[in-house]
Amino acid sequence: MIAKFIKRILRRDPMVKHTQANKTGAPKRIPKKAHHIDPHLLSKNAVKVTQTLQQAGFEAFIVGGAVRDLALGISPKDFDVATNATPDQVQRLFRKARLIGRRFQIVHVTFFGKGHPEIIEVSTFRALLDNAGDHVAESGRILRDNVWGSQGEDAARRDFTINAMYYDPSSETVLDYHGGMADMQKRTLRMIGDPAKRYREDPVRMLRAVRFAAKTGFQLDSATREPIANLGKLLNDVPSARLFDEILKLLMSGYSWAAIQGLKEAGLHHGLLPLLDHILDEGEDSKGANNFVKLALANTDQRIQAGKSVSAGFLFATLLWPDLLKNWKANTAKGMANIPSLHDAMDVTIATQSNGMTIQRRFESDMREIWSMQPRFERRVGRYPYRLIESPRFRAGYDFMLLRCATGELNPAIGQWWTDFIAADPAGQDDLMTSVKSEPGNNPSPTKRRRRRKPKSSLPTESASS
Ligand code: ATP
Ligand code: MG
Repeated sequence: MIAKFIKRILRRDPMVKHTQANKTGAPKRIPKKAHHIDPHLLSKNAVKVTQTLQQAGFEAFIVGGAVRDLALGISPKDFDVATNATPDQVQRLFRKARLIGRRFQIVHVTFFGKGHPEIIEVSTFRALLDNAGDHVAESGRILRDNVWGSQGEDAARRDFTINAMYYDPSSETVLDYHGGMADMQKRTLRMIGDPAKRYREDPVRMLRAVRFAAKTGFQLDSATREPIANLGKLLNDVPSARLFDEILKLLMSGYSWAAIQGLKEAGLHHGLLPLLDHILDEGEDSKGANNFVKLALANTDQRIQAGKSVSAGFLFATLLWPDLLKNWKANTAKGMANIPSLHDAMDVTIATQSNGMTIQRRFESDMREIWSMQPRFERRVGRYPYRLIESPRFRAGYDFMLLRCATGELNPAIGQWWTDFIAADPAGQDDLMTSVKSEPGNNPSPTKRRRRRKPKSSLPTESASS
């Protein structure tokens, strides 16, 4: 769809095709007929914010990813506004406005309407900092930057040319400081300024490069791509919480599989998530893991592209599953009982993961719940299925189980059984349970299996359904 849209722009508008970044610092003004932004894709609230600021005498524009997406004909998922008003001045103009951030103050303006409230993030133009200032660590990483500047400076601080365009809804004009529109038409992702220096300032930009390339299908410009091979190690210095946020964005981008391939090509996956190392390892041993994760990510991408929600806990549960499965099997091979094996394996898997980028606690409990439900899907007798259905996270556990069936790790008949069971009335559910009772190997619990092996005299015969 993106490709089609770009072709359309190219056909209609050769005018901006050869635009170069403007050396004088003045932006190129791109009129409506040259950018084709569809005003219907704009958030009414974002337009309201720019209008209110403009009426109060300030400059205000929609900026960043929203302009990029609009120019691609995609509906932006959120809208940022940039202005020359200070955060205090912004806050005074709106009823529901909250100052947030310490490192760099911005204002969240909230609108309540039908559905979810919408937050428009309003930031004040930021100043450019040079390396000589005390804002920059020895490595080049920016530490503090609460300094206001001009719009031109604000544009130069942004990461990619296609992320540095400003759209004024009232005149329907795009202000383009770094040739973003031309790069868009060349399907190129280009870092503003000296890429190596920009990556040193903020190594997360390397991950952003990969994410945007996956999302847009654009090529990284060679000067933007080349330094990554040497600088990837700088990601080790980035605080774990920030890495986690960025990886989560990457996984939730709707293009996660492409992005993960991009990480691999850029050599950035090592140490980010230990699990990525072997997911991306193409050896025979990893084939099953690869298939499972690939399917899970394809599934996530599909849901996100269809505008459905995805839980991060579910996503990480799938990414770590191959590892968990390996640990679980190793435990049972050592003679440990099935369920304790699983729980021990969960601890080991999570602890190993924490050596890289820490997965936040709130997702960890979701993951544990989804995982510990898995053996319970195999017990389809007595009260077990009813109890399982009542678990608060049943739906996630069930979806997870279906993924296991789809890769053949679990017998697909079990997945079908559950799908039927959920849809059946009580009589139908009884029939379904009866149908599996006679199946050889329908998982009585390991305790029961052990008991059966004991001499008859000491064992009151127990039906699997009791
Ligand atoms: P998304 O669609 O994922 O939200 P986005 O481009 O809007 O993409 P954000 O993280 O929301 O990404 O950032 C908004 C804008 O802020 C970017 O478009 C870019 O101009 C600027 N920006 C964000 N992160 C950085 C960074 N690390 N370095 C420089 N500029 C950045
Ligand atoms: Mg954004």
